[in-house]
Amino acid sequence: MIQQVEKIWMDGKFVNWKDANIHVLTHTLHYGLGVFEGIRCYKCADGRSEVFRLKEHVDRLFESAHICQMDIPFSREEISEAILEILRVNKLEEAYIRPIVFIGDGEMGIYVKNYDIRVAIAAWAWGAYLGDEGIQRGIRVKVSSFTRQHVNISMTKSKTCGSYVNSIMAKREAILAGYDEALLLDNEGYVSEGSGENIFIVKNGVVKTTPRSSVLSGITRDSVIQILEDQGKTVKEESFTRDELYTADEAFFTGTAAEITPIREVDDRSVGNGSPGPVSKKVQEIYFRAVKGEEPRYNDWLSYL
Ligand SMILES: *Cc1c(COP(=O)(O)O)cnc(C)c1O
Repeated sequence: MIQQVEKIWMDGKFVNWKDANIHVLTHTLHYGLGVFEGIRCYKCADGRSEVFRLKEHVDRLFESAHICQMDIPFSREEISEAILEILRVNKLEEAYIRPIVFIGDGEMGIYVKNYDIRVAIAAWAWGAYLGDEGIQRGIRVKVSSFTRQHVNISMTKSKTCGSYVNSIMAKREAILAGYDEALLLDNEGYVSEGSGENIFIVKNGVVKTTPRSSVLSGITRDSVIQILEDQGKTVKEESFTRDELYTADEAFFTGTAAEITPIREVDDRSVGNGSPGPVSKKVQEIYFRAVKGEEPRYNDWLSYL
């Protein structure tokens, strides 16, 4: 259950949680054309709270909307301010923030002439998405029978609501089979990403991550690449196969929700020695310090409340 808060921001106003409703003929509910973001706010070591990489998330929300030809009726500044306000109004010190841009009711059918674009922003307390134990010990992953969206089907650079049917199918299949998360391959058979996470592997000290072409261009992925490069590591954005993953020394998922979650097993084969390796642990450590304002070199990633 989502932990309820007092207010949700809807179309420019703060409304009570129980009043943040939409009509059953809301277009996005029927056809899936809507875009969203997932953002985290962390409580820092000094007691203040910060929103991690707010600008990049708001920019991506607008890019997703642009890809989907949806004109957001607010400016980037207004949306950024609303994100900070929803945390302040609800007195949230740590939270997951979910802005969504959707088409309202009034018209039906695939083609809508007068798009009524609506925006809502909710925030609630949400712990480790793949579990605290997953963050500590690593998770078990299954290569999915479902293929990741092709770049020319739903496209990959937008967090489009409807694209998550693919993610849900894959994740359900993996969970029902007894695993923690699904790993999807792209339409050529190379490793793509998890149902909502990008993937990294480490072999002989070299780090690889999937090229941006077949994946959602993750902001955590970007942060991790920067952290690794600052540690003197080489990060190659290069396609790799599932057997390259099986034989990697280390693997981990990255995402705002999943943060940095090591992968200890893929398709019943242990990755490395079956527990989080040194590179994964180091990146986790720096990342979790950075989001709490304890890594001064990354302080420009933080927007304090
Ligand atoms: C949101 C998402 C990610 C992770 O992106 P972040 O910006 O790191 O949160 C990765 N893959 C998919 C499919 C996603 O939806």
